[in-house]
Amino acid sequence: MTWLDKDPPASISNPDLVIAQYKSLSRQAPLIYLIGLVGGWSLAISHWSVAPAWAVIYYPILVSIVSAIRIANWLKARKADVSVIEAKKQLDRSHVMAILVPLLFGFWGFSLFPYGDLALQGQVIFTVCVGTVSIMFCVLHLRTAMLIGVLCINVIGLAYFLVYQNFDHFAVFLSSVVFCGALTFVFRNYYEDFLQLVTVGQQLKAKQTQLELKAEETERLARENEKLANHDALTGLPNRRLFFSVLEAKCTQAQTKGHLLALCIFDLGGFKALNDLFGHVAGDSLLLQVGTRLKAKVGNSFIARLGGDEFCVLIENAANVREAEMRARDIRDIFNAPFLVPGGGVSLSGFVGVAILDDDAPSYVNLYENAAFALRVSKRKSDQHFVVFGEEQREEMRKTVLLERTLLNANLFEELSLEYQPIIDIRSNRVLCFEALARWKSPEIGEVPPSDFIPVAEHSGYINQLTSYLLERALREARDWPEDIGLSFNLSATNLSSAETVSQLLTLVERSGFAPERLEFEITETAVMWDYEQSLKAVRSLKKTGVRISLDDFGTGYSSLKQMHELPLDKIKVDRSFVRGITNDPTCYGIVKSLLTLSHDMNIECVIEGVETGAELETVKEIGGDLVQGFLLGRPLPPTGVPDCLAKAQSKQREAWLSAS
Ligand code: C2E
Ligand code: CA
Ligand code: CA
Repeated sequence: MTWLDKDPPASISNPDLVIAQYKSLSRQAPLIYLIGLVGGWSLAISHWSVAPAWAVIYYPILVSIVSAIRIANWLKARKADVSVIEAKKQLDRSHVMAILVPLLFGFWGFSLFPYGDLALQGQVIFTVCVGTVSIMFCVLHLRTAMLIGVLCINVIGLAYFLVYQNFDHFAVFLSSVVFCGALTFVFRNYYEDFLQLVTVGQQLKAKQTQLELKAEETERLARENEKLANHDALTGLPNRRLFFSVLEAKCTQAQTKGHLLALCIFDLGGFKALNDLFGHVAGDSLLLQVGTRLKAKVGNSFIARLGGDEFCVLIENAANVREAEMRARDIRDIFNAPFLVPGGGVSLSGFVGVAILDDDAPSYVNLYENAAFALRVSKRKSDQHFVVFGEEQREEMRKTVLLERTLLNANLFEELSLEYQPIIDIRSNRVLCFEALARWKSPEIGEVPPSDFIPVAEHSGYINQLTSYLLERALREARDWPEDIGLSFNLSATNLSSAETVSQLLTLVERSGFAPERLEFEITETAVMWDYEQSLKAVRSLKKTGVRISLDDFGTGYSSLKQMHELPLDKIKVDRSFVRGITNDPTCYGIVKSLLTLSHDMNIECVIEGVETGAELETVKEIGGDLVQGFLLGRPLPPTGVPDCLAKAQSKQREAWLSAS
């Protein structure tokens, strides 16, 4: 126990001073006894032949024993920590000792005084005086004890002079009294210095404590900052930053030890739509649950949230690729059970991309890129929610990289063009509008379909530039069409992602002189749901200028009736995957029929896409469809083919009119 452990009583106003005084006393006390013993024994030896045995043998032995015990006690006490209360007790006791010690040694010295001749008497006075001064030095820091001690020894001396009435050395005695008095006065200053020293020490200690606290606080803040910088605030999981440094370290470790390392990246399919539908609180709760389920599933494996709705897990020490894949599939099972969020239970289709660290992907960057690519593939292909990066993906990635590079270096004016596919009202055989479809013919890699190069342009951030070029061109090419023929143009999610990109489109429309009422922008359902709030804003500002909005690939995304109602839509285009089964799959038939009814009820036009056969067209007619697009009625045409197509449609209309009349 240290002296700080116990609270000092209120009477101890300065605990530090008490401790400092005690420590000084415990250091000096053995010395006091030693000085007394040396002085006493030197006198005893000088008076050996003249003084009685009790004065030179027995009494000195008694004093020596007492002194030895005291010295031993002090030496022991010096090593131990002492409480303030204990120290104070010892200091109070020192006042009593300040009487007893002078009595013990003073009596020894002065008891020999009457037996010696003048010289020996002088020696007694000299020894007592020197001893007193030496002891005064020892108790410099105990002012009261020093005063009591000095007073005591002088009173004992005076008492001897008076008892034995021998004043031969009285003058010497008097001068030693004066000398002691003067020293007491001088020592007073030292005592003040001592007090100041203790105060300064106290202040330094307080400052040091403060500094220590500050250092602790700084360290705590640094730790917190580190945690914040490396962890996701919502789930508490490591974030992207920490993920990359851990991934790098784990890759090096796995390569050195020859262990297998797999990286799985998860993406919560439909999360954004659910976030918009149920609100951000529900979205946060969902992410938390995914984090919790992942932790419960993988135990000690490293998990991170890479941002948004992307999580990842590192699979270490699998015996082989097959086991790593099985473990990844097992983790994916966390999406099997629905999640409970405020507003209801929701099911998510988790997309997973897996990559293995091997000689073909030797660095952590390769590993990450491969897993991210596998994830992209899994998201693109609706039938494959789990993709392990393999030879097929490597080839696809190589093609994508080549595509990206070629597209970025392409001469847009020469290589890009547009084809136009008619959308026809099958009741009147009238062409309502043409949908502009992008075409790219690269001198290096040949013809590339838009379903390949549009996603690459979106991914590389090149899409806005591409859209601007294509829109300008489409507006120019459609300028000479008859006024009742509209132009339908496809937009990407990125084109709607900010006010700037939207105003870029509007400026182009304005500059073209093309009547906005004849222009229709097609946005896919998945693009709208990618960031519903922003899409809503963008669609509203487009609508203000008079252009029409069509929801493309309807039925493949996650929009709700509420959102459909909220969006100022003019048209929906039922995805061609439903038309594919319309003649033989009752579900597809039912879906197309319901969507037609829904659009009529909502007063929105409905185009059935991808009609390829007469049977499909008949079924569409049967269930009340009127607007149709498909290879059966017209394939995409170069701009030069448009007048011909219109002329054919007109002659068909005439034929129909003639046969009806
Ligand atoms: P989309 O907007 O759904 O366009 C219709 C696609 O279906 C076109 O393919 C068209 O050729 C094809 N199609 C039309 N009728 C039939 C049919 O009866 N059977 C079959 N099998 N297919 C039919 P395309 O031209 O290859 O375009 C594919 C997709 O690329 C488009 O799908 C659209 O999402 C995108 N795309 C094309 N041009 C552009 C563009 O300029 N900008 C953007 N952002 N996307 C574009
Ligand atoms: Ca379209
Ligand atoms: Ca479509």
